[in-house]
Amino acid sequence: MKIKSKKSLGQNFLIDKNIIKKIVESGNILPNSTILEIGAGTGNLTEYILKKKPKKLFVIEKDEKLVETLKGRFDKKIDIINKDILKVSENLISKEKLIVYGNLPYNISTQILSKWITNDDQNNWYENYILMFQKEVADRILAQTDSKNYGRLSILSNWKLNIKKIININASCFNPIPKVESTLLKFTPKKNYLKLKNSKNLETITRVFFNQRRKKIKNPLRQLFKKSDMIIDKLKLNTELRPQNLSPETYYMITKEYENLRN
Ligand code: SAH
Repeated sequence: MKIKSKKSLGQNFLIDKNIIKKIVESGNILPNSTILEIGAGTGNLTEYILKKKPKKLFVIEKDEKLVETLKGRFDKKIDIINKDILKVSENLISKEKLIVYGNLPYNISTQILSKWITNDDQNNWYENYILMFQKEVADRILAQTDSKNYGRLSILSNWKLNIKKIININASCFNPIPKVESTLLKFTPKKNYLKLKNSKNLETITRVFFNQRRKKIKNPLRQLFKKSDMIIDKLKLNTELRPQNLSPETYYMITKEYENLRN
């Protein structure tokens, strides 16, 4: 069957069977697993997820036409939700913890990631999630302190999540072929992380620092704290450093201090 792909919905379908298998394997599906697949498209990944015989498979797809395709191809084997993932309350989908797969438009992957990270009351609905990113964005998510790609996205992503690179995926594994290379990342919740009152504060702090990427951290610290010397002493910060030289943990601690002073 020929399906016309919609550019506006980032429809690049995976066609490389080995890559599809590798993606499905990376979720460690067990017979009692409940799965959520986001942006199922024509169902190329769906088919291989079903081969693992999970207990249940929910599928979210925004495009009504593709929902019809999916119904035709899988009928009652899957539970289709015809919605925009950005408008779904993930914790209401199932009582079971979900293994999540998403080969979605790149911009949506990044939006979902930040939605899930900053969701302070909904932490426990997933077991892990596996998302496709444009390679450059994945590089920023994975970047280490002191490196060129290190920044807000690395710090935010590493707060509550362990992140593992599964594989780089060549553009030719998709149809139509996208203009960029892709990387698949797997996220699992960290057991221990520094709890914050409001994750928005971490966004604020990192924004203030990285808006002045080239300046020494003295400047943003002064901007954020009336008594910045106190914070510098307490956290033993070297004020000669620049934003990219501070570890993610340091940013979490700075945010904690910021919250403490606000209450
Ligand atoms: N996972 C399939 C399809 C990838 S194309 C495969 O690998 O072959 C991306 C899919 O995400 C498309 O089917 C598109 O319609 C869907 N999509 C795009 N934006 C979406 C959104 N906001 N919510 C849910 N699905 C979306």
